[in-house]
Amino acid sequence: MSDTIFSKIIRREIPADIVYEDDDVLGFRDVNPQAPIHVLFIPKRPMATLNDAESGDAALLGKLLLACADYARQEGVAEQGYRTVINCNDDGGQTVFHLHVHLLAGRRLTWPPG
Ligand code: AMP
Repeated sequence: MSDTIFSKIIRREIPADIVYEDDDVLGFRDVNPQAPIHVLFIPKRPMATLNDAESGDAALLGKLLLACADYARQEGVAEQGYRTVINCNDDGGQTVFHLHVHLLAGRRLTWPPG
């Protein structure tokens, strides 16, 4: 896959407000937040979309979601609630083609999404 702005964030070539990091996952604040808490969790090993995930990536996908839940607990919003979102390709609204999970919290979110 081609290099994206998220790969540059992983390599620390451009700044980001990093709030979470382990060997496989990086979490940083979305530059255009849609809720008081809006963090993106990405695998350090890039894959463009969820369509590119294979059975061997199951643990990595699980780590992304567990990172979201851990961060929500850490921020004290787990009980009140939050939303995780993966946009996939054009109809899904994906704009950066490095898989990422949005964690949105801190306000009552509406449903359905637009
Ligand atoms: P998506 O539309 O699901 O691909 O989401 C991409 C997200 O990346 C959007 O919410 C953008 O605001 C966010 N974004 C783009 N560039 C940056 C950046 N340099 N730092 C943090 N978030 C970014």
